[in-house]
Amino acid sequence: MDIPNNSQSALPAAHPETLSIHRGQGYKGDTGAVIPPVYLTSTFEHGNPEGFDYTRSGNPNFRNLNDQLAALEKGEFATVFGSGVAAITAIISSLKSGDLVLAEENVYGCTYRLLAQVFEKFGVKTRYVDFTDRSNWELIEELAPALVWIESPTNPLLKIIDIQGIAEVTHRTDGSLVVDNTFASSILQHPLELGADLSLISTTKYTNGHSDVIGGAVCTNHAAWQEKMVFAQKALGLQPSPFDSWLVSRGAKTEALRVARHSENALALANWLESEAGLLMVRYPFLDSHPQCSLARQQMTSGGGIVIADLGKSVDETVAFLKRLRYFTMAESLGGIESLVCHPASMTHASVPRDVREGVGITDSLVRFSVGIEHIDDLIADVKYALGHTH
Ligand SMILES: *Cc1c(COP(=O)(O)O)cnc(C)c1O
Repeated sequence: MDIPNNSQSALPAAHPETLSIHRGQGYKGDTGAVIPPVYLTSTFEHGNPEGFDYTRSGNPNFRNLNDQLAALEKGEFATVFGSGVAAITAIISSLKSGDLVLAEENVYGCTYRLLAQVFEKFGVKTRYVDFTDRSNWELIEELAPALVWIESPTNPLLKIIDIQGIAEVTHRTDGSLVVDNTFASSILQHPLELGADLSLISTTKYTNGHSDVIGGAVCTNHAAWQEKMVFAQKALGLQPSPFDSWLVSRGAKTEALRVARHSENALALANWLESEAGLLMVRYPFLDSHPQCSLARQQMTSGGGIVIADLGKSVDETVAFLKRLRYFTMAESLGGIESLVCHPASMTHASVPRDVREGVGITDSLVRFSVGIEHIDDLIADVKYALGHTH
C-alpha cells in the first residue's frame, strides 16, 4: 500500500510542476520502470493486497491519476470518470427527486442539456440565475438548493463568478457548491481552497492538453461526497479506460508548463486585439477592461487560454475571417496545445434562438479563441492576416 502514496508525505508543500510529476507514480512493481505501465485488465485476482476487483470500480491507472489530480486541485480526494459529462452525471445523479440545482445562467451547454433533458425527468429541478449580480445570491438562502452550480470563467462570455463569496452563502444552508473548474484549469484556480465542496474538471481540456482523450474528474475534501463519487463510478459505469487514464496522467505532468504558455499567449493576443480598430469588444479575464478583472486577479493566478472578441462584422465576413486563419483550426473544445477558434453562434450555441443569444452577448460576429502554445508572433500574424492586414 505504500507504493502509490509514498510521495504524498514526502512532498507536502511541493509546487504543481513537481507534484504533477511525482504524485500518482505508483504500481511500478519491482521492474524498475520509471513510468508506471498501463494496466489493461478488466478484472483482478480475488484477494490481492491492493484490493482491486474489477476495472469498473478501480484500476491502478485510475488511482495514480486520482492522486495526481487531487494534488493539483489542492484537495484530499479525486475520482476519475470517462468524460467531463460523466463527472457531471456522477454529481447530479447523487441528488433525489424534488432537489433543486441553482445554476449560473451561462453554464456549459452540455450541463444545461443534461439537467433539462435527463435529470428533469427524474424530478431534479433547475433554476438559472446571473451570479455576477450579487442580489441573486439571496436566492441561495431563500430557495435552499441541494447544489449551487457555477463555472468561472464561464463559456463563452468569460464572466468571473465569486467562488469564495458564493461558498460562504451556500454554507449558511445545507447545500453544496460545485465549481466546474475546466476553463480556469487546476493550475490557475483552486476552488476547494476558496470554499467549494466539489471541483469538477473535464480532463479532456487543459489536464490532458493534447486533444486526444476524453476524460473527467471530481475533486473534494468531504469523505461523504467522495463516497458518492466512487459509488457513481462503479454503479453507473462512468469509469474511464486505463489507457486514457494513463494518457491523462502523462498530460498532467506538463499542465503547469503548458498553462503558463497558454496564458501568456492569450494575454498577448488579447492586448493586440484590443489595439485593433473596428472590433466591438475584446474580453479576457486579466485585461483591465474586463468587468470583473479585479475578482479574476484574486481567484486566478493568471487569465487562462481563452479570449473572445466581437469582430463587429457580418456573419459572412466573420465566417470568411475564420476560414482565412491558418493556425487556428475551427473546432469545438479548448485547452489543447494547438490553437482552435470557435464561432458560438453557428457552433456551440446554434440551437439557442438568436434573440436569446444576442441578449446575453453571443452575437453573429463573436469568436472564441482557444490560444495554443505555438509561438505568439505566428499566432498574431495569423489573426492579423485573417482580419485583412496586408503586412
Ligand atoms: C468540455 C467541458 C465539459 C464536458 O467535458 P467532456 O470531457 O467533453 O465530457 C464540461 N464543462 C466544461 C466547462 C467544458 O468545457
